[in-house]
Amino acid sequence: MNKPVYTPATLAAGNFKKYHWPELNRLHLTFGDIEPVLNTLARSGEIDCQLLGHSYAGVPIQRLSIGRGPRNILAWTQMHGDEATATAAVLDWLHWLNSGADTGLPADWKQRVSIHIIPMLNPDGAAQCTRHNAQGIDINRDALGLQTPEGAILMSQAQLLEPEVAFNLHDQNAYYSVGETAHPSTIAFLAPAFNTEKQVDDARYRAKQLIACMQEAIRHWLPNEVARYDDTYSKRCFGDNIAALSISTILIESGAGWDDPHRQTARKMNVVALHSALAALLDGSYRNYTPKDYYHIPENREDGFCDLKIEALTVPGRHLFVADMAINIDRHSGEARIAAIGDLCVMQGFKTLRQPALQLCPRKGFAITGPMTLDDSEYLQLMREGVGYFYGDANELNIQTTLPVLVVSAPLPELPMPGDQACLLLSKPDSAPHLAILNGQPVEF
Ligand SMILES: [Zn+2]
Repeated sequence: MNKPVYTPATLAAGNFKKYHWPELNRLHLTFGDIEPVLNTLARSGEIDCQLLGHSYAGVPIQRLSIGRGPRNILAWTQMHGDEATATAAVLDWLHWLNSGADTGLPADWKQRVSIHIIPMLNPDGAAQCTRHNAQGIDINRDALGLQTPEGAILMSQAQLLEPEVAFNLHDQNAYYSVGETAHPSTIAFLAPAFNTEKQVDDARYRAKQLIACMQEAIRHWLPNEVARYDDTYSKRCFGDNIAALSISTILIESGAGWDDPHRQTARKMNVVALHSALAALLDGSYRNYTPKDYYHIPENREDGFCDLKIEALTVPGRHLFVADMAINIDRHSGEARIAAIGDLCVMQGFKTLRQPALQLCPRKGFAITGPMTLDDSEYLQLMREGVGYFYGDANELNIQTTLPVLVVSAPLPELPMPGDQACLLLSKPDSAPHLAILNGQPVEF
């Protein structure tokens, strides 16, 4: 019998379960969530923890380093406060690298490279679950202005360490697809341009080789879910400006997968990709790849997905028409809104509602004229009568049902529009409603 071949990628994936931090399996992470993990890592083994400075609101920004070699690698996460997936991933990776377990790397790797990681560059944004920092600034548009303490810290680290490779780790919205396919973009890579001509110097060439190598490594687990991000030059962004320092800069965007609201697949694939890149840098095997391999990765396509797609809905109004409807649910607030109405044959739903002759009921509201209690049976009865929402003084409505209820101050137009909250009633032709979409969730009654 052949002995199984363990590559750095298979070891990273195989050890993930043992070395990941289960307490970080969450939709969102704040500094308070990761602080105990940072402290544990800083106390153990050979991880050096340095305080780099503080966020605008005064939260410490730390750098964890492992290895004492002359070749530097720098990674940072959660520059956008509401993008936490890679923060968990880099802490998982450090945990494993520091464990003494077989990582598939050469025995002397710690004498050859130093890995520096800034987990959660934007703790203030993380605290508020916002993209921007506590100054209201998108740090990733501050690479030239450097008016944010977080951006200034990052730029000074890039200049001080002069890393060979820089990993810029983000989350993307859930609705990217891999090219024209029906696959979600769970991981997207980019070797950012450093000028409008999208020139390629040695560093960017190597970034493309490393990405091709990482894509190959994670293909075993994600055969169809890896995409290549648009490389239009972005003058104010960190990736582009750090690439301009002749540093091989790699953007990794963590995205959605099927039935994976906490993006644990992307988290694990970040570890596999980062580890594969490290191994390839150490043994030089990234040189086996070419930019052609990089461009072979399908493009990341915006709006290829929605959370719920209702197909071929007959819509009454001035005249009947047939349209698909896309509904998206904000992953942090949980609020569902209509994203698009029309021919959505180019869009895939994470869930799809497809019933013959399904008709949208004109929206009808119930006027709140005094104190009233709404329990499940009363709510369902009102929905059967075509009432889809309530209007008036919300304080008068005592909501006892566990189903989502839409309460607005004034009556809504009969036809819902993109941007509206996704509370709808559906029926068969000439029948009473039998199906509701309540805050994006189908409820049959
Ligand atoms: Zn981002």
